[in-house]
Amino acid sequence: MRAAITGGAGFLGSHLCELLLEKDWEVLCLDNLVTGSDSNVAHLLPHPKFRFAHQDVSRYIEVPGPLDVVLHFASPASPPDYLKYPIQTLKVGALGTHNSLGLAMAKKARYLLASTSECYGDPQVSPQPESYWGHVNPVGPRGVYDESKRYAEALTMAYHRYHGVDTRIVRIFNTYGPRMRLNDGRALPNFLYQALVGEPITVYGDGKQTRSFCYVSDLLAGIYKLLESNEHEPTNIGNPQEITILEFAERVRKLVGAKTPIVFHPLPQDDPKQRCPDITKARRILNWEPKVSLEEGLQRTYEYFREKLAQSAP
Ligand code: UDP
Repeated sequence: MRAAITGGAGFLGSHLCELLLEKDWEVLCLDNLVTGSDSNVAHLLPHPKFRFAHQDVSRYIEVPGPLDVVLHFASPASPPDYLKYPIQTLKVGALGTHNSLGLAMAKKARYLLASTSECYGDPQVSPQPESYWGHVNPVGPRGVYDESKRYAEALTMAYHRYHGVDTRIVRIFNTYGPRMRLNDGRALPNFLYQALVGEPITVYGDGKQTRSFCYVSDLLAGIYKLLESNEHEPTNIGNPQEITILEFAERVRKLVGAKTPIVFHPLPQDDPKQRCPDITKARRILNWEPKVSLEEGLQRTYEYFREKLAQSAP
C-alpha cells in the first residue's frame, strides 16, 4: 500500500505516518511546515518506505507514481493557530481539500478527510451525534476553521456522490499526546507548560466549559478502522469522558506537582460551552472505543513535555 498524507509533519499526521509504516505501507508525507514541524518526522527520514516532500497542498499537488490512499490532515488546528493564519486555514480546508480530492480521483485512491468536532460549533445538543447539524457562527473568529471544514465535508461528499471517489470523513474531537507543540496554545500544552515552568495556569472564562480528551493512539486506531470500513458518512472519533476545563487544569497541576496558581482570563469569542462525542456509531460500525484513561494519557504527555523542555533549556 502507498499513501500520501497531507499535514504529515503535524501532531496527528506524524503519528499517522508512523502507524502506516508499522503496517509496512509506503508513506509520502506532504507538509508546508506552517504549523507542523520537521522534527516530528526526523526519526522517520532514514526509513526506506518514508519520504518527506515540502509542499503547500493549497496549490496543485504533484505526486509521481501510484497511490492507494490519500489522507488529508493538513490544517492549522489550534484556535490560536487558526486565528494567526485565518486565510491559510480557509485555503487548506477549501483548496487543499479540492486538490487532495483531485489527487485521489486521478490515482483512483481511497480518500480520508480529517474533519472536526468544530463542525458542531457551540453545540446546543450534548453529546453530539453525527446527525446534529451544528451551531456555528460563520463570521466569528473561529468561523475560518469551522466553515472550511464544513465546506471540506461537503466537497468530499460531492466527490463521492458525483465522481464515485471512495471517501471517508472522520470528525476528530479534542486529542492530546506527545508531539503537540509546547507553544501550540491549546489547553493541555498551555497547562502543562505553565505548570512545568512555574507560571500561573490560565483558565479562560470560569472554566465551567467542558471538553472530552482522547489520547492520540486511541484516535489513530479509530481512524485506521474507519479507513478500512465502507462508511462514507461522517463518523465521530473521540473520547466521551467529559471534564470541565477548570477540573482539567487542576488535574494537570496535581500531576506536575506544581504550586503555581490558577488564574482566570477572558473567554475567547464563540468558545464552545460543551463538547462531548456521541460515539455510538463508531462503537457499532467499527467496534472501536478508546482504551487509554485520562490518567495514563496525561502521564505519557507530561513525560514528553518534560523531556522537550529539558532539551530546549539553555
Ligand atoms: N483554554 C483555557 N486556557 C488555555 C487554553 C485554552 O482555559 O490556556 C480553554 C479554551 O477556552 C477552551 C478549552 O480550554 O474552552 C479547550 O481549548 P483548546 O484551545 O484546547 O481547544 P478547543 O476545544 O477550544 O478547540
